[in-house]
Amino acid sequence: MIRFIHSASAAAEFLGIETPPEWMAVDKIYPVLANSYYLGLIDRNNGFDDPVLRQILPDDAELDDLSSEFDPLAEAQQMIAPRMIRRFYDRVVVLVTAKCAGHCRFCFRKRLWKSDAELNDISNRELEDMVAALKAHPEIEEVLLSGGDPMMLADERLIEIIRVFSELEQIKVIRLGTRIPVMFPDRITGQLAEKLAEFEKLWVLTHFNHPNEVTPESSNACRKLISRGIWVLNQTVLLKGVNDSPEILEQLFRKLLAIKVKPHYLFHVDPVRGVRHFATGIEPGLEVLRYLRGRLSSLGTPTFAIDLPEGGGKVALQPDYEENGCFWDIHNKKLIKYPDKE
Ligand code: SF4
Repeated sequence: MIRFIHSASAAAEFLGIETPPEWMAVDKIYPVLANSYYLGLIDRNNGFDDPVLRQILPDDAELDDLSSEFDPLAEAQQMIAPRMIRRFYDRVVVLVTAKCAGHCRFCFRKRLWKSDAELNDISNRELEDMVAALKAHPEIEEVLLSGGDPMMLADERLIEIIRVFSELEQIKVIRLGTRIPVMFPDRITGQLAEKLAEFEKLWVLTHFNHPNEVTPESSNACRKLISRGIWVLNQTVLLKGVNDSPEILEQLFRKLLAIKVKPHYLFHVDPVRGVRHFATGIEPGLEVLRYLRGRLSSLGTPTFAIDLPEGGGKVALQPDYEENGCFWDIHNKKLIKYPDKE
């Protein structure tokens, strides 16, 4: 049975350690929320450098950055209805809740769950307003349910929300963004998976960051969805001190492929206040792609992307393999001329 842990001191007690004073200071601004399953993945031999611990428990660096914005991607300015963000021509993001199975320290929507945040679950009125906004823009064909974590809603409410969008003929794809398979896999029951599978338009986008998160439990949660015909793709954030190593990411992507979850995106950390200490810089992300090119198939290799400030959208980045009409081979050892057309 999962147990939710709502404070830095309770998390420290769970781990059997003294509460570090800096955890208490961070907890006041960016509250700690964890659970017994996810904290159970921490290998205490790694001390404070454990990759799961670094994702879920505080770091005083969260308080260092006072100049970055909480919403540098300008989501608030791109709303076409309350809680509905439109950045791209054919799709919108819907913030259905601010609740999560744990507060990830690198979260780019920290503003939704920091101590002074106030965002309730989506109301019927808000849903109606969104439907009206979509009908006014028939070119929008895709809805991404996000938050927070939509799977924190009760089954009935989640299904009701998916049904509202699914019944709109103009909507062809519904993406459900969730970290539940990773952080609270028992939440995905056979019954929930059965109900979700009724929606042909539904895709699940999950969020594994480290091979240690691919456990029998999280694999089983994904299997429940996949075996019922729901596609599951994964997004990873490149995080300094967690997964900023080509070898670790190769392990992660191989493990995901083995459970039939397609590595879809590898994102650089967004320039959000309180998360910048996780930023690696862009070059290490390109290095990961260079390393993977000779080792892993395209099925296992995600697209590396940055999300531009000011609502500029995602930009996919690739290493540059070309030099004077020649291209580096897949092992980056030799330049080979490509016989392009005259
Ligand atoms: S589950 Fe997603 S929305 Fe929630 S804290 Fe983690 S990254 Fe942020």
